[in-house]
Amino acid sequence: MIDFHCHLDLYSDPKQVARECIDRKIYVLSVTTTPSAWVGTCQIHPDSKYIKTALGLHPQLAHERYAEIDLFGSQVKQARYIGEIGLDGAPEYSFSFKKQMDVFNSILRICANAGGRLMSIHSRRSSQLVLDCLKRQPESGVPILHWFSGSNHDLKCAIEMDCWFSVGPQMFVSQRGRQLIMNMPRNRIITETDGPFAQINGRPLFPWDVEFALNGLSEIWETPVSIVRQNIFNNFSELLRKMG
Ligand code: MN
Repeated sequence: MIDFHCHLDLYSDPKQVARECIDRKIYVLSVTTTPSAWVGTCQIHPDSKYIKTALGLHPQLAHERYAEIDLFGSQVKQARYIGEIGLDGAPEYSFSFKKQMDVFNSILRICANAGGRLMSIHSRRSSQLVLDCLKRQPESGVPILHWFSGSNHDLKCAIEMDCWFSVGPQMFVSQRGRQLIMNMPRNRIITETDGPFAQINGRPLFPWDVEFALNGLSEIWETPVSIVRQNIFNNFSELLRKMG
C-alpha cells in the first residue's frame, strides 16, 4: 500500500506508526509543515525504503513561517520530496493569501533551480491560482495535487499540465469527490490519507487506512481491488522513475 501524503510527525507516537507501516510494507510520504521540522521528522525513521520525508512549508503557516524560506533553500539539495506546499484560498486564510503566494512562488523557483522535485501540493479553494503558479515554473518538477477539490475545468487544466493526484478516504465520502476521481486519469492517481488531520468515523486516519481509498477506487472503476492495488503500485513506480 502507498500513503503519499501523511503527517507522520503529528501522531502521538510517530515512531510506533512508522514501525507499523514498515511491518505492513506500506510506503509513506511523510510530509512536513515547516522547514524547521524537516530534520527532526527525518529522524522518525531514517533508514527505511518505506518511509520518505518531504520538505514542506504549509500554506496555512506561511504568514508565521515565511522567514524559513531561506532554510528551505538550504535544505532542498538533501530533499528528494517536497510537501506540504501550496495555497489555501479559504476565507479564514484570506488575510495571508499574498504571503502564501510569495512563499509558494519562492518554493517553486527553488525547486526549479534544484533541478525539479516531486511536490505534494495543497490547493483548497485555489486550484486555478496553484495551476497558474505551476505554469510559470514548468521546471519545478512533478506536481501531485493532494485532495484536489477544484472545478471540472481546473481538473481538465491540471490533467493537461501533466499533474498527478493523490486521493484519500475522505474524497470518496462525497459525491463531488467521487465525480472528480472518476475524471482523473487512472495512470496518474496514487493514494493518501492526510492523517492524522483527516478523519473517518470520528477518528484520525492512519496510513493503513488507504485501504478505504483502494476500495473506493475499486467501486468507481468497477475493477477488483487486487487490480486496483497493482495499478496504484505501478503508478507509484512510474512517479519515482520520473525523478530518477
Ligand atoms: Mn496535509
